[in-house]
Amino acid sequence: MSDTSLSARDVEAHPDYGTRAIPSEDGKKIDKLLDSHTEYEFGGPVGVVGIMAGFPILMYYLWICLVFYDGQLVFPHSLDDVGPFFGRMWEHIRVDASPNWYAWKVYGGLILYELFLALWVPGYMQEGLPVPSLGYKTLMYKCNALGCVYITWATAAVLHWTGVFRLTSVIDNFGHLMTVAMIVGFGVSFGAYFVTVATGKQIRMSGNFIYDVFMGACLNPRLGPIDLKMWLEVRIPWVIVFFMAVSGACKQYETYGYVTPNMAFMCLATWLYLNACAKGEECIPQTWDMFHEKWGFMVIFWNFAGVPFSYVYSVVYTANHDPELYRFSTFTYVLLFATLLTAYYFWDTSNSQKSRFKMQSKGITEFRRTFPQLPRGTITNPKYIQTAHGNRLLIDGWWAYSRKPNYVADWIMSLTWGLCQGVCSPIPYFYSVFFIVVLIHRVGRDFERCAKKYGDDWARYCGAVPAKFIPGVY
Ligand code: NDP
Repeated sequence: MSDTSLSARDVEAHPDYGTRAIPSEDGKKIDKLLDSHTEYEFGGPVGVVGIMAGFPILMYYLWICLVFYDGQLVFPHSLDDVGPFFGRMWEHIRVDASPNWYAWKVYGGLILYELFLALWVPGYMQEGLPVPSLGYKTLMYKCNALGCVYITWATAAVLHWTGVFRLTSVIDNFGHLMTVAMIVGFGVSFGAYFVTVATGKQIRMSGNFIYDVFMGACLNPRLGPIDLKMWLEVRIPWVIVFFMAVSGACKQYETYGYVTPNMAFMCLATWLYLNACAKGEECIPQTWDMFHEKWGFMVIFWNFAGVPFSYVYSVVYTANHDPELYRFSTFTYVLLFATLLTAYYFWDTSNSQKSRFKMQSKGITEFRRTFPQLPRGTITNPKYIQTAHGNRLLIDGWWAYSRKPNYVADWIMSLTWGLCQGVCSPIPYFYSVFFIVVLIHRVGRDFERCAKKYGDDWARYCGAVPAKFIPGVY
């Protein structure tokens, strides 16, 4: 076990600089253990069936309350009303959320267009982390999301101004699009499972069919040069979320002749998120979703349907309600925008600090420069804990204060997405409530895995950085 904590300068002088990302023999044994199924998560097969059925039901319910019941949560009035209540709900789904031809054209068109762009637009090539299940081989990732996003914006603008495809129609067809997205989410989840098993590329399998569909079978799904997991994380959910906000803004402009600061806030917030994912795409191969999480229902459904159709309820509310209902004072607007931008700064730079630190550990010192590059996004002489496993744990920058500074900042942003419509409706707060549950659950899973992986070194790291989220609070 090593107890050294070196600065990057010391590391450069170290004889095996650049090769330490390959773990020691003991580290390899631990990686092998982590790549095998040992216990059920998410409540096992029963739990995942509940989640798979529960998500769509919840999404329909919240959408119906938001659009047809003035943003208020509705329930049956009495026992006698239970039947009619479900009848009314089903009628909204059947009529207002049918998977109609418009939705297939728009949603299917977006997927095909994004696949086409991912294939043909030139991009920055980023080497991923060594993959234990591939004998520590590294995979290359084509990072062209930024170019693809700009082309998508330009295409949408041309289609809108020429009248071929009015952006306002996106928000008006929310229900129809959501149903198609759910069908695609389910279809791709099962399809990915069957293709992976048929080609023998499955990993960390439990042997329980539905659980394995939920968790996924393959770790690195590829379509030619496209890493489908990374492609799906950026190109579909955040693109739709952004266009939903733009669609809401267009609708307000057509209705009132102006765009409210609240809607402008959502355009900015969704643009920041989309742009960050695209401009920092080369950092994504170092995230937990990419190197650990498999491509299963949890990731697939949530990216195809969950994120785009449950994170921007405030846009749907404000696009369909009188601006007088949610008008704030100038001071409140300043506070709201300032909170978003501050949280964004810490989110962007904390992710960048850790990701670039991991690259530095592999000997990479030249980083991609995309707009905007923020101060302190890279730590020049980072302090870290060298683990016996071989990996290093950063204890510098924002990572000196919290073991998850990126989660804290991300959650604050999610809260502002609800706050931007004040207290008109509780539904836009769904994102922040859901997200905190996800993050706390994820932290538990992640830390448990790290404790197994790093043993005493993890305890040493937790001693050096005691706060999970906020120093002195949690
Ligand atoms: P992290 O970026 O925190 O990655 C966790 C992994 O990083 C750990 O498993 C460990 O892996 C490594 N690690 C942890 N601490 C350190 C350290 N101090 N030094 C070096 N390596 C460390 O989490 P995620 O990948 O989950 O999240 C990335 C971003 O994506 C976050 O900002 C998150 O908020 C966001 N996100 C957003 C979602 C949304 O729906 N909006 C959903 C999920 C995530 P190892 O040591 O094995 O390398």
